[in-house]
Amino acid sequence: MDERQQIEQFLRRRHFHQVLPIAALIDMDGTLYDSMGNHADAWMKMAEEEHLPARREEFFIWEGQTGAMTINTLFRRTHGRDATEEEIRELYHRKTIYFQQLPPVSPMDGAQDMVATFIKSGVRRVLVTGSGQSSLINRIEADFPGAFTPELMVTSRDVEHGKPHPEPFIRAMQKAGVRPSQAIAIENAPLGVKSAVAAGVFTVGVVTGPIPVSDMEDAGAAIVYRSMREFADALPQLLLNLLTTAMP
Ligand code: MG
Repeated sequence: MDERQQIEQFLRRRHFHQVLPIAALIDMDGTLYDSMGNHADAWMKMAEEEHLPARREEFFIWEGQTGAMTINTLFRRTHGRDATEEEIRELYHRKTIYFQQLPPVSPMDGAQDMVATFIKSGVRRVLVTGSGQSSLINRIEADFPGAFTPELMVTSRDVEHGKPHPEPFIRAMQKAGVRPSQAIAIENAPLGVKSAVAAGVFTVGVVTGPIPVSDMEDAGAAIVYRSMREFADALPQLLLNLLTTAMP
């Protein structure tokens, strides 16, 4: 299927006439930043200390959900119960410290070009992250100057339900003042894709880690790119294809 056919398939499924992107709803970890390896390492260190068995790849599969949900998943498996509020606070804090002790992460190759294309095209940028870690959120302006403003950010503090629940992307559209047919979501994690798809948004899956293309398709991505560089290079044409593809 070519790109136009993928767009048509999405329009048919959603009963939309057209997608005219006014806002781009952009994930942070693994999308803007090459940060998932460090997150997985920090989670593994905390889990090992706590004798909570886990495989490193699992933290890529669970990417996008809140830290509390990840801690509860580990707890249920090992202790057969959820963690207490106190345990969640303490363990997430420790994981955050370990993340900050690792070498600094870089923007994902291609991410700055992607953002520049949205700026040039007059598409509003909204950050949609399940993270509550200020160390990265505070760096955004330095690495992506002029791209994101605090009013157009959804972090773990803004939502009750994390990804894969649609709430983060619904909040993002409310903040940007757009409907689902006026948005495009950019995600690297299956749970993030599910969240955006459940919110009704045309969702681009970008593979930037060990998750295979098929997992992104299974999660419901309208279109999948094999790297952020590939997506950044393809974005001007994708925007043009969206503008010129409509259903009767
Ligand atoms: Mg991500």
